[in-house]
Amino acid sequence: TLSDRLADTFKNLRSKGKLSAADVDGTVREIRRALLDADVALDVVKAFTTRVRERALGDEVNRALNPAQQVVQIVNDELIQILGGQQRRLEFAKNPPTVIMLAGLQGAGKTTLAGKLAKWLAEQQHTPMLVAADLQRPNAVTQLQIVGEQAGVPVFAPEPGNGVGDPVKVAKNAIKHAIDKQHDVVIVDTAGRLGVDAEMMKQARDIRKAIDPDEVLFVIDAMIGQDAVATAKAFQEGVDFTGVVLSKLDGDARGGAALSVASVTGRPIIFASTGEGLSDFEPFHPDRMASRILDLGDILTLIEQAQKQFDEEEARKVAEKLASDTFTLEDFLAQMQQVKKMGSLKGMLSMLPGAKGMREQLENFDEREITRTEAIIQSMTIAERRNPKLLNGSRRLRIAKGSGMTVTDVNQLVARFEQAAKMMKTVARGGVPQVPGMGPI
Ligand code: GDP
Ligand code: MG
Repeated sequence: TLSDRLADTFKNLRSKGKLSAADVDGTVREIRRALLDADVALDVVKAFTTRVRERALGDEVNRALNPAQQVVQIVNDELIQILGGQQRRLEFAKNPPTVIMLAGLQGAGKTTLAGKLAKWLAEQQHTPMLVAADLQRPNAVTQLQIVGEQAGVPVFAPEPGNGVGDPVKVAKNAIKHAIDKQHDVVIVDTAGRLGVDAEMMKQARDIRKAIDPDEVLFVIDAMIGQDAVATAKAFQEGVDFTGVVLSKLDGDARGGAALSVASVTGRPIIFASTGEGLSDFEPFHPDRMASRILDLGDILTLIEQAQKQFDEEEARKVAEKLASDTFTLEDFLAQMQQVKKMGSLKGMLSMLPGAKGMREQLENFDEREITRTEAIIQSMTIAERRNPKLLNGSRRLRIAKGSGMTVTDVNQLVARFEQAAKMMKTVARGGVPQVPGMGPI
């Protein structure tokens, strides 16, 4: 799925401290492929990836504590934008009744939506009425009547005298009836066809003209994939609509339709339909949909994992030791082991604000060096680890032999320890810096 693909993409970014242009390009390329495979329209994909690339290469990422997380954030932001940005609520008329007309292909989920909307509105103390203006399909009126009964909402159906066979007349009479009976919302179900069809469009357009609805909701099956864009455009030209309802989001929707339709038509997605039951329905939130597409919870967890492993308590202790000048080789080893657990020294350094100098110095740090460092420190006595000043020539020779390294290796390690301790102390001196999600260092 799109979520899985994006998660994999970000997983690859996770261990990176600083992102190169090549990292960003690679990531953007993968996002692009994932979106195209999810049936997002090409134009939308292009615009999207251009924006993400621009921002990911910009300062906001380079200065970030955790660039990978920052990139996820950017992708999330841009997804929200594409999905319409802010949530758009249903608009009610100043003078009731509010008239809502539904349009869309046959099987899109209009009639089901009519019931869902009616139930939802009734729960909010509205007094909706349903109108059966789909006179195309033999069972359409009965279907709406059943749905209306389930929702506990009256249905205005064609009868002799109010427009049998003429959906425009039925719709007009229905509005009069609603005013008469003081229904504050009128939901007009209309006919669809299996494909985009001139006659169907004209009928929908005629109904629209006749009843001048406050909202025209275009209902689209989220599973129709690549056809979503063409269908949405055809309805926009043929009838025009004020908002979109994505139906069947509960299915194996790849999210592509959702991403394309709002962007291509410039019309907001107002509701999401997520099942056959009348309660399987909710106002659409661009940010929630973006999270869903990104599986943001999972991705953020993934990235945070790396940080969490650098135990908070440990970090605090180190900070105290640095500040009080009691940071020892033992601590150095413990820290190395923490870093190893985390998988990346660079990763840790990227979390240390102010450790830029050290980060650069260690940019080319070979991870195997951690293993060698471990071997050397483990060959030291506890006393030596706690007080490196004890390390005279003969002790160094003993340690070298014990760890299978040379005296030069031992000397280098001690020198590096001293340098690191000094640098980290400088970092720690500026108060103990707070790292989000990690506690003080
Ligand atoms: P219409 O032709 O546009 O009026 O579509 P219908 O409302 O009759 O729905 C067509 C089919 O899709 C029916 O079998 C519905 O039960 C089903 N359906 C509608 N909305 C959803 C949804 O959100 N999820 C699922 N899984 N099925 C839906
Ligand atoms: Mg129907």
